[in-house]
Amino acid sequence: MTHAAKPALYDVVVIGAGPVGENVADRARAAGLSAAVIESELIGGECSYWACMPSKALLRPVVARADARRVPGLGGAVQGPLDTAAVLAHRDTYASHWKDDGQVAWLDGIGADIFRGHGRLTGPKEVTVTAPDGTEHRLTARHAVAVCTGSRAVVPGLPGVENARPWTSREATSAKEVPGRLVVVGGGVVGVEMATVWAALGSEVTMLVRGKGLLPRMEPFAGELVAEALTEAGADIRTGVSATSVRRDGPDGPVTVELDNGESVEADEVLFATGRAPRTEDLGLETVGQEPGKWLTADDSCLVEETDWLYAVGDVNHRALLTHQGKYQARIAGAAIAARAQGKPLDTGRWGAHAATADHAAVPQVVFTDPEAASVGLTLAEAEQAGHRVRAVDFDLASVAGAGLYADGYRGRARMVVDLDREVLLGVTFVGPGIGELLHSATMAVVGEIPIDRLWHAVPAYPTISEVWLRLLETYRG
Ligand SMILES: Cc1cc2nc3c(=O)[nH]c(=O)nc-3n(C[C@H](O)[C@H](O)[C@H](O)COP(=O)(O)OP(=O)(O)OC[C@H]3O[C@@H](n4cnc5c(N)ncnc54)[C@H](O)[C@@H]3O)c2cc1C
Repeated sequence: MTHAAKPALYDVVVIGAGPVGENVADRARAAGLSAAVIESELIGGECSYWACMPSKALLRPVVARADARRVPGLGGAVQGPLDTAAVLAHRDTYASHWKDDGQVAWLDGIGADIFRGHGRLTGPKEVTVTAPDGTEHRLTARHAVAVCTGSRAVVPGLPGVENARPWTSREATSAKEVPGRLVVVGGGVVGVEMATVWAALGSEVTMLVRGKGLLPRMEPFAGELVAEALTEAGADIRTGVSATSVRRDGPDGPVTVELDNGESVEADEVLFATGRAPRTEDLGLETVGQEPGKWLTADDSCLVEETDWLYAVGDVNHRALLTHQGKYQARIAGAAIAARAQGKPLDTGRWGAHAATADHAAVPQVVFTDPEAASVGLTLAEAEQAGHRVRAVDFDLASVAGAGLYADGYRGRARMVVDLDREVLLGVTFVGPGIGELLHSATMAVVGEIPIDRLWHAVPAYPTISEVWLRLLETYRG
């Protein structure tokens, strides 16, 4: 159906069909509201084509091989190189070959109308879609406009960068060839995951990290263990350095990154994994009293400050730049939109159906490196900064029977941060092979505020890595 043949009035208009926009539309439709969804690129968003899906498809063979190499009797069978063509083909499959037919069918299936093109607010509850052929279509929202436009990679404005054709996360997750030498600028999640992938596929990787270590937002031992493994995998990690300029010699020539310590690094590609910016600069926010180019500030129901109809959901509100957290917000925002539309009272209490409270204190994240790093809630430093009286309880995962069975020479560590006044957990971090799947147990303990005395009765099966829970509790009790 052409845009013109579709209605111009919807209960909810969603701008951006990433995982978050799709879920807002789904919740709106489930509540009986009509929904229009506007998308300028591919339905499915960054996550499906240039972020979660392709990165995890690339990492899975890398991590599985590393795990297998540590299993007695199996290691010898997996000493060879990865089959690069097969790994990239696997990635292509998980990125749906950068086609969105499947997601279009899904949106059709829930009865949402799709508008292809760039969406821009042109006044309160009014969005104009500019289609790829330049035609414009004006949509009006009866109840809500949900901005779900996500974020994009930031490339620092270094001298020479515009002619150096640097990689961002998009190129790093979709590249068709393995660069001989890759410089990764940034030591956060995207930097370490992509360094892990490309080093395993044969690139000579140099990481340039401004701070003291990798994964600065996690407990310090997470970055230390990941750095140790990346170094063993051949990566050259340089901390405390900043790139000052970038130069590419000729269209196909190498790229040189100059550093503030006077050194320089030459490579075939340079990846800037240096943060994200909101996609709000060309959204018409000025027509509704909001500032373009900034992260949108939303309350726990995802309603934008000083409005009663404009929602900001997912990356764009900067609460937690993760797909699962954005989809959680989408479920909450969808329910809030429906309740407000139906004149029902909102439940915005701590555990209310209309408040994304987990964003504040219980955001889970898995970094899919070798070893994996996973955390939920507050780190020790964050808990202390927030004024809690806390104790960090650490345990070496190598001493857990299940970990020893999982891998020869298992290296890993766990920490729980205990609120000493209430004897509940404020945060948990695991680092080690195969611990990603353990994280949800920690999330439930943190969100459920399960007292330590009760956790004592949650008996982990022997001999699994989960027995780390028992060891942490024993260490705490002394
Ligand atoms: C390399 C990488 C790996 C990641 N891995 C993980 C992971 O393993 N797990 C995890 O939870 N998170 C991961 N993330 C984060 C995750 O990708 C984001 O949190 C998630 O995509 C946010 O979803 P969203 O719907 O808010 O935004 P997006 O996915 O960015 O979607 C926004 C959509 O809006 C569209 N859009 C923007 N402006 C307009 C406009 N004006 N009009 C119409 N359409 C518009 C865009 O084209 C896009 O399709 C990763 C990120 C990166 C970069």
